[in-house]
Amino acid sequence: MIAEFVSSAASASDLPRGGVPEVAFVGRSNVGKSSLINALTGLRLARTSAKPGKTRLANLYRVGRGPTTRLLVDLPGFGYARGGQAAAEEFELLTHAYFSRVAEEQAPISAILLVDARHPGLESDRRAWAWLQSVVRAPALVATKIDKLAHGERIRALRELESVFADSVLPVSAVTAEGLDELWTQINRLANTRNPQPAPRLPRR
Ligand code: GDP
Repeated sequence: MIAEFVSSAASASDLPRGGVPEVAFVGRSNVGKSSLINALTGLRLARTSAKPGKTRLANLYRVGRGPTTRLLVDLPGFGYARGGQAAAEEFELLTHAYFSRVAEEQAPISAILLVDARHPGLESDRRAWAWLQSVVRAPALVATKIDKLAHGERIRALRELESVFADSVLPVSAVTAEGLDELWTQINRLANTRNPQPAPRLPRR
């Protein structure tokens, strides 16, 4: 797998326009987003690529080559323990700016929501899922840090997650690499999924 860091976008105008499919990773801070992208790409992410005091919009990683090239997009984490309302609002602004490009048809954009396998059904995750479903077609759901659960806990947690989110959940671990092949399959499927386009206008006669 060829993977490379492309850029850190500070605003929507820095985002690519080349039409390469993008798969965005969304999740609460500390959910394991950087670790998962590291594990998928073999890259060591520069976690502090943004200047202090400035929240980046997104870090972009190019994976694959030629017609199978995709961009993995690392969006800022939400649900900050500190930072309160201001941080929450900044997250929303950034994320909305990113996903507003879906409507502009600049590129096929899809998303994966990462949730911590140990905390099924958090209110902020539910809200993020409902929102994501309203902006992209068929977002995917991934349960991180699955290695932290014993067999019985794992079954219970996955059952609860699938019930709360009413969708299938892929368990993964950045530590044991469990689920990473399946996640690549999902990423490739998502990259080939087009979002609903506005109905074409009928030509005038
Ligand atoms: P981010 O804020 O979402 O980017 O989260 P990080 O990738 O920085 O991970 C947060 C913490 O969870 C770190 O201490 C990681 O070592 C740990 N972590 C991340 N993924 C896993 C995993 O799959 N298994 C285990 N056991 N720990 C993980």
